[in-house]
Amino acid sequence: MIPAPFEYVRASSVEEALAALAEHGEDAKLIAGGHSLLPIMKLRLAVPSVLVDISGIRELSYVRVDGDGADAVVAIGALTRHHELETSDVARAEVGLLPHVAGRVGDPQVRHRGTLGGTVAHCDPASDLPTALLALGGDVVLAGPGGRRTVPVTEFFLGFFETAMDDGEMIVELRVPRLGDAGWGYEKFTRRENDWPIVAAAAVAGRDGGAARVALANMAGTVLRATATEQALAGGASIAEAAALAAEGTSPTSDMHADAEYRSHLARLLTRRALETATTPISVAA
Ligand SMILES: Cc1cc2nc3c(=O)[nH]c(=O)nc-3n(C[C@H](O)[C@H](O)[C@H](O)COP(=O)(O)OP(=O)(O)OC[C@H]3O[C@@H](n4cnc5c(N)ncnc54)[C@H](O)[C@@H]3O)c2cc1C
Repeated sequence: MIPAPFEYVRASSVEEALAALAEHGEDAKLIAGGHSLLPIMKLRLAVPSVLVDISGIRELSYVRVDGDGADAVVAIGALTRHHELETSDVARAEVGLLPHVAGRVGDPQVRHRGTLGGTVAHCDPASDLPTALLALGGDVVLAGPGGRRTVPVTEFFLGFFETAMDDGEMIVELRVPRLGDAGWGYEKFTRRENDWPIVAAAAVAGRDGGAARVALANMAGTVLRATATEQALAGGASIAEAAALAAEGTSPTSDMHADAEYRSHLARLLTRRALETATTPISVAA
């Protein structure tokens, strides 16, 4: 399939991108890696008449620790590609879940083009990195005509391909708390290694299993937290007891890959495994 004709604008700064969005209104769409937008343009599910290419704004590609002491967070530019996140020493040292999950997105070609901002903005219910971000917490930084604002990750993914981003805004940064002593686990069930998850579970937990956060992919119209599991853990339930509640409050669909009942089974199983990994003490070689 061939996309409908469109005008192409290249932005070399955030200001240029915002100006182009303001000029062309709802006819315009940003394009970063193009690995989600172009497939849906080819299917004519998206028909923007203007594409604003932001892939050249290289100052939005970075992973760094921002701030000092307990207030320090990991700041990740929106145009950081999955491969850059996967191989970032800072990300590996401070938020190990994210580079691990980035390395499990699609294939090398996808990881060398796709961007963190793109996958967060696209808000596919099956996407890996938004699931990891929900478990980690933190903020999405948006730039728009009125300046910059920050939205907690937990309030960003609203529904089926729907986010808290307003028209004319763009994501410029993700700010993620450092993991410190917390452990993490990620379980992604696919039919083939490079596939999107049929279901995935991300867990972040203190090594004693307390104050855990669990997020699920492909269990509803958007990525979501497994709140029944989290509440059970906070109330002293075992991992097995809490994971048995992982599908509560979800609304998985049935499709050619799995029916809703099987997805619920996967959510319970993957949550248990992710939590077990997150709470397994790290052994240090002598
Ligand atoms: C073959 C294939 C396999 C894949 N497998 C997986 C997988 O296993 N797991 C997974 O999670 N994903 C997978 N993906 C999706 C991939 O991760 C995409 O790269 C990602 O979802 C979107 O990033 P992008 O930079 O390509 O965004 P684009 O396609 O350029 O844009 C996507 C949407 O986000 C908007 N956008 C982009 N950047 C910004 C910004 N900074 N601010 C505001 N809006 C913005 C665009 O306007 C568009 O609406 C796969 C894609 C392909 C083609």
